[in-house]
Amino acid sequence: MLNPRKILLIEDDSVDAETIERMLQRNSSETSITHAKTVSEAVECIRRCRFDAIISDLSLPDSRDLNTVSRLLEAAPAAPIIVLTGSNEEVGAELIRSGANDFLQKGTIDSLLLRTINFSIERYKLKRDLMRANSVLAGQNRSLVAHCEASRTFVDNVSHEFRTPLTVVREYASILRDGIDGPVNEKQISRIDTLISRTEDLSRMVDDLLDTSKLGMGLVRVFATENRLIDLVRNVVQLVESRAKANGVEVRIGDFDSETRVFCDEEKLRRILTNLLTNAVKFTSSGGKIDVNAKQDGEFIAISVTDTGIGIAPEFLHQIFERFEQVADHTRTSTTKGFGLGLSIARALAEISLGKLEVTSTEGEGSTFTVFIPQAKTESILKCYFDKREVAKKEHGTISLINIRAESAEGQTEQEETPKDRIRLDQIRLDRINGLISSHLTNMDLSLRTAPDQWTIFLANRIDLPKQLIEKIEDSLANLKASSKTGTFPKLQFEVLGEFQLKNDRETLERLGKNDPSAPPCC
Ligand code: ADP
Repeated sequence: MLNPRKILLIEDDSVDAETIERMLQRNSSETSITHAKTVSEAVECIRRCRFDAIISDLSLPDSRDLNTVSRLLEAAPAAPIIVLTGSNEEVGAELIRSGANDFLQKGTIDSLLLRTINFSIERYKLKRDLMRANSVLAGQNRSLVAHCEASRTFVDNVSHEFRTPLTVVREYASILRDGIDGPVNEKQISRIDTLISRTEDLSRMVDDLLDTSKLGMGLVRVFATENRLIDLVRNVVQLVESRAKANGVEVRIGDFDSETRVFCDEEKLRRILTNLLTNAVKFTSSGGKIDVNAKQDGEFIAISVTDTGIGIAPEFLHQIFERFEQVADHTRTSTTKGFGLGLSIARALAEISLGKLEVTSTEGEGSTFTVFIPQAKTESILKCYFDKREVAKKEHGTISLINIRAESAEGQTEQEETPKDRIRLDQIRLDRINGLISSHLTNMDLSLRTAPDQWTIFLANRIDLPKQLIEKIEDSLANLKASSKTGTFPKLQFEVLGEFQLKNDRETLERLGKNDPSAPPCC
C-alpha cells in the first residue's frame, strides 16, 4: 500500500465505529484507520502520528459538542476535522464556524462519507498552501517595505550631504570666473562656465531627489501669501537666462498685467516655473524661442511656458508626469541629464498650491506647459480651496472656522524702540506670527490673512480640532516670546466661529470667509 491515507476515527459506540470502519475500507483500500474512544485517547494518538483527516463523534465520554471540536483543533491544528452529529444543519453550521471542516448527520453517512473525506482533505491542502503562500508574501512585503525605507533614507542622506560641497564648488568656480583671484582668459572662462552649468544640473537633481522624498511623505507645507507674479517670473527667467543664451535660445516674458497677483507659496511657484523653464531650455535647439505668459482663467491665473522645441508625442503626454519617466528619444537628444522627476514634482506642488499643471504639445513643433494658480482674491482662493477639498471625496467631513486677531500689547514698548522702529518691529512680529500659524496647518487647511493682524483659518477636521490647534499656536507663541530678542509680541485672540459640513454649508462658509455681513449667524 503506497502512502495510505491516515484517518483517526473517534467514536465511543463500537457498533457505529465498526460500521464506519467497514464503510471506509470498502470504499478505499488505501486507508489506514486508527480508532480512539475518547478525546484524551485521540489526543495521545495525534501526538504520536500525523493524520490526514479526523472523523469524530460529538458526544464522547470525556467531551461534548463544541468542546470536542476545540480540543481536537488545539491538538491537531493542521488536520481537517469532520464531525458526526445526530443534530440538524443549524448545529452543523455552528460546528463549521467553530473550526470543524465539515459535518455529517449520522444515518446519512453511507454515501457521503468518502466524498466528504476526500473534499475535506483537498480543501485543507489548498488552505494550507494558501496560508503558506500568504505568509511568504507577507514576509517578502515586510522586507520590501524595509528595503524601500532604507533606500529612501539613503537617498535622502546622500542628497543632503551633496548639497554643501556642490554649493562650495559653485561659489569657488564663480570666484575664479569673475577674475577675483587673478586674470582668466576666454578659454578658461568658457571651461569654468561649463563647470558651473554642470554643477547647477547636479544641484537641481539633488533638489529633485529631496523634494520627491518630502512630497511622498507628505512633509511639504505651503505658506501661501499674496505675490506679484511679474516679480516671480522675472526672478526665474534670470536663473535660466545664461544657459538659454549659451544654447542660442531666446526667453521672452509676455506682455501681461504687471499688477497680476497670485495666492501661492513663493518658493513653490518659483520651483514649478524653474522646472518648466529648465525643461523648455533643455528641449529647444539653437534659434528657438521660449515665451512666458499669464492670463486670467476663471478663478486662476494661468501661467504658460511655451517653447518651440522638439515637442512630445501624444502617447507620452501623461507618462511624463510620472516619477522617473522620460521620453526615450529625448534622453538621446538632451545634453543635460535629469532623473525624470521635475514634472512630477511640479505637478504635485501645483496641486498642493490649490492649482494644477497641464500640457499641450505637438511633436516637432513645441510644447506649452501651463500652471494654474489661484488669483489673490478672497473669493477665488475660497472657491479653489473648496473645489479641491470636494474632489478629495474622503475629506468631505467638517471644516471649522477660526478667527485670529493680534492685539497690540499696549504700554509694553521696549525702552529703546522709537515709534518708527516700533512700527517696523510690529510688522516683523506679525509676519513671524503668520509663519507660526501656518506651520501648524496642513495642506488640507487654509489660512487667509484678512488684515496684517488678522487671520481666518479653515481647519479641515482630520487630526486637529480647533481647541488643539489653538493650544499648539499659543504654546509656540510662548516659546517664540521666550526666545525672541525683539521685545514684546502681541497677544492673540481666538474666536471659533463654528463647525460646518462642506457638503451642505459651502455657501455659508464662502460668505463667512469673505466677511459677508449677510452670512447667517454661526452655530
Ligand atoms: P527630466 O527633465 O529630469 O528628465 P522631467 O520630469 O522634468 O524630468 O521631464 C520628464 C520628461 O518629459 C523629460 O525627460 C522629457 O522627455 C519630457 N519633457 C519635459 N519637458 C519637455 C519639453 N518642454 N519639451 C519636450 N519634452 C519635455
